[in-house]
Amino acid sequence: LVFSLAACGSDDSGSGSGGSGGGGGGGDAAGKVGVILPDTESSPRWESADRPLLEAAFEDAGVEYDIQNAEGDAQRMATIAEQMITEGVTVLAIVNLDSASGAQIQQQAAQQGVATIDYDRLTLGGSAEYYVSYDNTEVGRLQGQGLADCLNAGGVTQGNIAFLNGSPDDNNATLFADGAHEILDPLTQYTQVAEQAVPGWEPDQAATIFEQMYTQAGGNIQGVVAANDTLANAVIQTLARNGQAGQVPVTGQDASVEGLQNILAGNQCMTVYKSAAEEAGALAELAIALINGEEAETTGTAEDAEGGREVPAVLLTPVTITRDNVGDVVEDGQVTAEELCTGE
Ligand code: BGC
Repeated sequence: LVFSLAACGSDDSGSGSGGSGGGGGGGDAAGKVGVILPDTESSPRWESADRPLLEAAFEDAGVEYDIQNAEGDAQRMATIAEQMITEGVTVLAIVNLDSASGAQIQQQAAQQGVATIDYDRLTLGGSAEYYVSYDNTEVGRLQGQGLADCLNAGGVTQGNIAFLNGSPDDNNATLFADGAHEILDPLTQYTQVAEQAVPGWEPDQAATIFEQMYTQAGGNIQGVVAANDTLANAVIQTLARNGQAGQVPVTGQDASVEGLQNILAGNQCMTVYKSAAEEAGALAELAIALINGEEAETTGTAEDAEGGREVPAVLLTPVTITRDNVGDVVEDGQVTAEELCTGE
């Protein structure tokens, strides 16, 4: 579905459904779910998409819940986890800030008889009962293919490409980079001139790192694999300062409002859409199964090489979004037309 900025300001721009009921979540099931989100800076998704959709999923299921955000601080996540355990959660889901601190939280939860779930990021060496995420290697493949397609469309038959990867502490970031390399490494017409990970997926660090890459390459970069929309935006700002925004394809992920606006403006080549409604819904189902002592339905397992175990997992399928199908994300309700028009 094509979304047109021309529809902004008129009434037929349509509006997303989305939305969630408010409220604190009194429930029928005998259990309570705690969810700890990682931060507010690495991506808007955690507060703007995951939180409301998790609330909606738990409300629908009639399950009590408590959702908090660790604000990028692993110590703070540990403290929140302790509080949640004291307060009586029976299932604890975390989006870890790094595997070591995540594993420690899970170990402590297990000692108190609290079941744990890894939400979106797998905790290596952890002990979660379940893992719920997208197929993250596939996310990386979509980014690699997206960049190749944009380079082709722009008639760039050879040139330099750079990789701005996600946090070195995030197992997903490793998988995203693996997937992108799987597609781009065989394309030897593109020379990989730079590759660096951005600690904590922080936008400021991303800006500094890409600025350096760009300078070192003498501005001679024809395409950039940026691991999410936040990193992509940092890249686009450097390109813009050098009069190159829109001329160098940049990938992304999360279908954030900012990412979709960058796509509509022609400054970002693609993003990867991972429906938060699906992911939140899957987490709610797993949590409820754990509360009821039932076995949950999974799609397979995820390998935790560090812990030497296969974690039962629900892995969902990501989707490529380019200018041609931005409207699909609106239709799906993850963002509204109004947000795309106004940026808020
Ligand atoms: C998530 C991405 C997100 C990134 C930064 C990753 O683990 O899978 O969706 O953009 O973290 O928060």
